[in-house]
Amino acid sequence: MHINDINSGGNEKKEAIFLIDESARFEEQLCGRMARVELSVPIFGKDLNLTIGFLDMPVRICDFIPVAQALCDKIVDATLNEAQKLGWNVPCKKGCGFCCKNLVPISEPEAMWLSQEFAGLPKSEQKVLQRSIEFARRKLLSVAPPQLTEPDIPQEISDWYSNLDLVCPFLVENSCSIYRLRPLACREHIVAGLAGCGQSQNQIVRLPISILESVSKLCDRFGEGQTDAIMLPISFAWVQSKKNRKVGTYYMSQLLESLVEIMEQQTVRI
Ligand code: SF4
Repeated sequence: MHINDINSGGNEKKEAIFLIDESARFEEQLCGRMARVELSVPIFGKDLNLTIGFLDMPVRICDFIPVAQALCDKIVDATLNEAQKLGWNVPCKKGCGFCCKNLVPISEPEAMWLSQEFAGLPKSEQKVLQRSIEFARRKLLSVAPPQLTEPDIPQEISDWYSNLDLVCPFLVENSCSIYRLRPLACREHIVAGLAGCGQSQNQIVRLPISILESVSKLCDRFGEGQTDAIMLPISFAWVQSKKNRKVGTYYMSQLLESLVEIMEQQTVRI
């Protein structure tokens, strides 16, 4: 990984993610204040080369979530693209909410970011969704979780959650009502197989790297995560209960450097 001035660099074709340019003024980018990180992710024997342009300013890890989402989307899209070329059938599409009754784990910064973004939605939309969130939260808290036994804790929790038959509070008329804001766990959950949606022969597509897990490790590295993960329906209540907690700020380059290092350690060949 390299952090360089955005204007320097070779001629190799790379996909650019100018993640911070929405919040940065265009003149600042032109003045050359933008730096970049380059990384490469192996996908079915090909390298997905990415360039992330950013302004090196102090941010909280929750402000960094859009960067993680954009990275996640690029990796998922490239994996699906290659998988389809290999003849895989991917039934996932807009309007299918089949998997939206599964457990969606989110990290603390993601919960904070989602809660902030939710507050920016039109009030009428918030009101409707808040009713569903409260319904899901109550239902979730009314059923005791299982007695957990190592080493299958994630699977036991996941099975327990599925048995609750609790549809995600953001699923409206079988579509994700917060699609642009949807958690990393939803972005990374793709199924493939020869059968259509909901068939047991389908498999979860294995990605070369989970950005969800990488962000979780990033939080550990910066001492920002006290919980491993929060279940989506109770995440808003969790944020509310922690609203006076102190949250650190870090330079964008520090976060990206660490994230890419974690990604390099976690990447598997698919
Ligand atoms: S957030 Fe959206 S995509 Fe994720 S489970 Fe809920 S409805 Fe489905």
